[in-house]
Amino acid sequence: MHELWICQNIFEIVNQQAVKQSCVRVKRVYLEIGQLTMIEKSALTLCFNVVSKGTVAENAVLEIIEIPGSARCDSCQQTVSVSQYYDYCRYCQNFSLTIMQGQELRIKSMEVE
Ligand SMILES: [Zn+2]
Repeated sequence: MHELWICQNIFEIVNQQAVKQSCVRVKRVYLEIGQLTMIEKSALTLCFNVVSKGTVAENAVLEIIEIPGSARCDSCQQTVSVSQYYDYCRYCQNFSLTIMQGQELRIKSMEVE
């Protein structure tokens, strides 16, 4: 379970931003998470609630935007959708794919007061 570590990172960025903007409360955090990161959304929310307790980000709502995985086949150059790292190309069955999208983990924006 790597969600706790991720959460602490997210929280630190949120907290830094909150200090920078001298806000009193973080209401909402928009997160973009790639499908290939295999992050458990409910676990992430749970962890965030724990690490943000007693801070400006307490009770902030995590809005998670999931980004589907896609890759380019090294053999036939087709773009294929992938749900796991070890997926294969559905056109030529090649396993050598270059991941194009789906590894994202970033804070898109946040709503503060
Ligand atoms: Zn292919």
